[in-house]
Amino acid sequence: MKIHEYQSKRIFAKYGVPIPNGNVAITPKDARDIAKDLGGRVIIKSQVLVGGRGKAGGVKLANSPEEAEKYAAAILGMDIKGLTVRKVLIDEATNIKSEIYLGITNDRARRMPVMMVSAEGGVEIEEVARKTPEKIIKAHIHPLLGLQGYQIRDIAASIELPRKHWKEFGVIASGLWQAYNESDATLAEINPLVITDEDTLLAVDGKMLIDDSAIFRHPDIAEMRDIDVEAEAETIAREHDLSYIKLDGEIGCMVNGAGLAMTTMDIVKLFGGSPANFLDIGGGADAEKVGAAFRIILSDPNVKVVLINIFGGITRCDEVAKGVLEAIDEVKPDVPMVVRLVGTNAEEGRKMIAEADMITAETLADAAKKAVAASREA
Ligand code: GDP
Ligand code: MN
Repeated sequence: MKIHEYQSKRIFAKYGVPIPNGNVAITPKDARDIAKDLGGRVIIKSQVLVGGRGKAGGVKLANSPEEAEKYAAAILGMDIKGLTVRKVLIDEATNIKSEIYLGITNDRARRMPVMMVSAEGGVEIEEVARKTPEKIIKAHIHPLLGLQGYQIRDIAASIELPRKHWKEFGVIASGLWQAYNESDATLAEINPLVITDEDTLLAVDGKMLIDDSAIFRHPDIAEMRDIDVEAEAETIAREHDLSYIKLDGEIGCMVNGAGLAMTTMDIVKLFGGSPANFLDIGGGADAEKVGAAFRIILSDPNVKVVLINIFGGITRCDEVAKGVLEAIDEVKPDVPMVVRLVGTNAEEGRKMIAEADMITAETLADAAKKAVAASREA
């Protein structure tokens, strides 16, 4: 789960990371009032769940409350990489001497969190990684021992951070680690961590991703979810407990079981097609759940054909057929559908969909071939 910059920074601040004074506005008038409280010189920052807002015109420096109002009016409602800006963060402006990158993520290959630091902060770290990977310093963190003092000193020395900042840097690096660890994050990032003209360190940007499987342990973070900016399909999937991941292909797949879903995607690819999604409706899905899954698949404009592959066990094929028929009635899709039902109540299920205008298949290979053929014709 992604959370906004202002939310990430507030979490960091709880662990001792210094952040600028600021507040969130949803109207230009609020922005003006907040700017006034902060002394007039502020930075207006769009709160959307994508990076590179600065380049997209979503970060502006204002020199007065009037200017803050003007910029907020321009930024609110702006479209950044397909997301509409509904909130802006108004932060006290900082005079920046230099920008550092400081982040923690999981290194799956090493099975440990890794802290990454670069003196070339501000820009996207992926770019630094590509062009000058030697400028990124890495320190793996033992998950039980945590970030060690010697590692922090080693990092500070490696990025040639002036000595006078080391103590402060230590507090920030440890704070970021604690925030990451205690929030079950998969990413905690400060980019940039700046050295100000007053020679202090300040986290002017913040980003956090929280492991979806751990959200239940953090009701306070769960509450931060912004369904306003979440894709509608993701909201429906979450509400119906469906595992859904959107992909770029054109064959929408509805399958029960994660293993079968992956197999289905593999077979689709084997026959030259490309899956539009991973979607596991889970065991024992009823008609309502199937209907939700169907709506999710059809909300994707890339989908040219739907492939339904159900292995009935606890999930009953007639329930799936009922859900599909109800959903068809409601959504009236104009894409072809290929159905393969086997297992519990498959006969009943097939009878139910016999009247509907669907392509049926006996085996998974057969179903995949037919789906690929139908997507080519479309
Ligand atoms: P991002 O583009 O979405 O990563 O947004 P950032 O918060 O990182 O802002 C982009 C850039 O704007 C930063 O790298 C800074 O160079 C600049 N910036 C952000 N806040 C301030 C500020 O308070 N004062 C000044 N002068 N520049 C800022
Ligand atoms: Mn940034």
